[in-house]
Amino acid sequence: MATIDGLPPLRDVIATHGLVAKRQLGQNFLLDLNLTARIARAAGDLRGSDVLEVGPGPGGLTRGLLAEGARRVLAVEKDGRCLAALAEIAAAYPGRLDVVQGDALEVDAAARLQAPVKVVANLPYNVGTELLIRWLTPPQWPPFWQSLTLMFQKEVAERIVARPGTEAYGRLALLAQWRCEARIVLTLPPEAFTPAPKVHSAVVHLVALPEPRFPADARVLERVVAMAFNQRRKMLRSALKGLAPGIEGLLLASGIEPTRRAEEIGLEQFCALARAVAAPAR
Ligand code: SAM
Repeated sequence: MATIDGLPPLRDVIATHGLVAKRQLGQNFLLDLNLTARIARAAGDLRGSDVLEVGPGPGGLTRGLLAEGARRVLAVEKDGRCLAALAEIAAAYPGRLDVVQGDALEVDAAARLQAPVKVVANLPYNVGTELLIRWLTPPQWPPFWQSLTLMFQKEVAERIVARPGTEAYGRLALLAQWRCEARIVLTLPPEAFTPAPKVHSAVVHLVALPEPRFPADARVLERVVAMAFNQRRKMLRSALKGLAPGIEGLLLASGIEPTRRAEEIGLEQFCALARAVAAPAR
């Protein structure tokens, strides 16, 4: 059966190259090219942008990104078995696909990309959250990327967009929403993948804001939030006891009742607390 880009259907690619999915690499492949094109479109207009893709696998999403007009795709894949399939895609799109074999946690992708950059990936579940946290907490803001369009397990996606007062609200929501616009753009049932995972999945689209929503030192805010949610059921005056001397006073000065719990506190108040903690004259 012919495909839109003239390359073989993904089932054939997988059979030809013997890409039996490996669970330890988080390999749940998307084989429907209409679906991968939809995910590529969720990233916005790709023309004129470099795209970083982590974990291209047999290349379904890679093909979507290229067909949607990405200027160049840099694809980082750990599994050497996928390289031959990806080389066929590179040949069909001359000069537009570079594949690096390696662990995305170790490859310095930013150094190989030219602005503007969009990150689009169906992430392996075992490194997805770690990569997201790294992208959200770079040494400088704005980061090397303009937007992140990422597939996660649905439960993780819900934690990224969660609001105060919900079970899903926590560190990930605060890190993401402090400096990004974040929303879920697509949810997918297990059957969309081969093999089917046990859980539903969702694509989150995050757009980097030029400035944080509220001023705060990034490292201090991360420390405050990590400590507050480490013991999320405790009152903040206990959960944050080791954070700084006189924590009750700092909480009150930030407009936070010391008896409240972390999940009741919004982003603006956490930023106020981070500023109070960082202030030199206490
Ligand atoms: N993009 C393909 C798709 O949508 O069908 C495959 C997605 S699959 C969920 C995750 C991919 O990430 C696999 O190809 C896997 O080999 C790769 N992978 C796993 N761990 C990785 C790592 N640390 N660095 C780079 N790629 C990794």
